[in-house]
Amino acid sequence: MADVPKTLLDELSNLENLFTVDAATLKKVTDHFVSELAAGLEKEGGNIPMNPTWVMAFPDGDEQGTFLALDMGGTNLRVCEITLTEEKGEFDIIQSKYRMPEELKTGTADELWEYIADCLQQFIEFHHEEEEVLNLPLGFTFSYPATQHYIDHGILQRWTKGFDISGVEGEDVVPQFQAALEARNLPIKLVALINDTTGTLIASAYTDQAMRVGCIFGTGCNAAYMEDCGSIPKLKHLNLPDDCPMAINCEYGAFDNEHKVLPITKYDTIIDEESPRPGQQAFEKMIAGLYLGEIFRLVLVDLHENKNLLFEGQDISKLKKPYTIDASFLALIEEDPFENLQETHDLFEKDLNINPSKPELELCRRLAELIGTRAARLSACGVAAICKKKNIETCHVGADGSVFTKYPHFKARGAQALREILDWPKGKKDPVVILSAEDGSGVGAAVIAALTLKRIKVGNT
Ligand code: BGC
Ligand code: MG
Repeated sequence: MADVPKTLLDELSNLENLFTVDAATLKKVTDHFVSELAAGLEKEGGNIPMNPTWVMAFPDGDEQGTFLALDMGGTNLRVCEITLTEEKGEFDIIQSKYRMPEELKTGTADELWEYIADCLQQFIEFHHEEEEVLNLPLGFTFSYPATQHYIDHGILQRWTKGFDISGVEGEDVVPQFQAALEARNLPIKLVALINDTTGTLIASAYTDQAMRVGCIFGTGCNAAYMEDCGSIPKLKHLNLPDDCPMAINCEYGAFDNEHKVLPITKYDTIIDEESPRPGQQAFEKMIAGLYLGEIFRLVLVDLHENKNLLFEGQDISKLKKPYTIDASFLALIEEDPFENLQETHDLFEKDLNINPSKPELELCRRLAELIGTRAARLSACGVAAICKKKNIETCHVGADGSVFTKYPHFKARGAQALREILDWPKGKKDPVVILSAEDGSGVGAAVIAALTLKRIKVGNT
């Protein structure tokens, strides 16, 4: 790096120390993770929810029928109509996306359900003739932690991903949702309430039998895998057969809320304190897409305001606005050829009204790499922990989410971290591979709805 003034160089090595997670730390985090996965399945519960989902079988690829799927993620709302066709593992899909208005995320329950019902109504009116009687079974992908005693119910444990809608936490979301449908006379029957990770697991297994784990690395982060009921002490009172499968939504974004092992920086602490739910989702806040840009922003503001190192004499009022930088900003910086960082310069000028010098641009580039790499490496700990807990030596892991699919080098960095954690011999094929998943929140919701109807027909549970 030419021409980097000494102070900036010092600061860079300081940041490198702060954000670099070495193999020994990854292993320590993973080991603690394994015990937390088990603790969450105990009767007393642990720190991670480990929610039973009542998805009790892998698909065999022969599931059929037409279903609606509703996907309420962190950013968009999507309505899909999915036909699982006669051909094994095949499907047709039509879908519409609706942007979730920002105000909705901090509004009231009524506003949320009315907006969702409006979108469903629009979708149906657009795609179906009036006289057509619908009554299509619906799979609702609700990507937040929920306690489920049945597959078609779910009590919201708490909002995540910056949501703060009043009147839903601690409540069963299904009657609220259904009341909004009934008010519009929408002939839709909710069959299954699912998490995006469970959907990802099942959708991936629908087309690839080697899939054992479903992950989301997106606005939030989380994973689901298939457990045996015999290893779920908290379900023991139900007398389910020990070898009966049960998909578990880990909700491991909540891993290490107690701050025992994660290498937390002062920037992570600020993110937590300023969030609507301080003390929650410690792991997620270090690695998920919602927070990557904010971590970056907090570092830059700190270097400008407290250390007088960056953007001297410039007006940083735009940069001072929380959440003004998102993960796609970092992604663009990481994609910009290091030689001139022209795109990065233009981004700063256009979005933030800042005119950075070449050394400042180089620092920003390195900082984006550090934050993106930390996220990918820590993400691997959750996957490694599930494999260790289940004694899985080789499998496919299905992953989805904007960070996984769009953030540069995320996949390669995650794979490298897995190798370090699990000590695989060099030069051989990786035994556990994280692959792009099928659309879990759409196709997965449809397959789970199909599996649920099949289970009801057969009459067990
Ligand atoms: C939610 C999970 C979800 C994950 C990915 C987290 O914030 O709590 O339910 O699976 O985000 O969308
Ligand atoms: Mg999603």
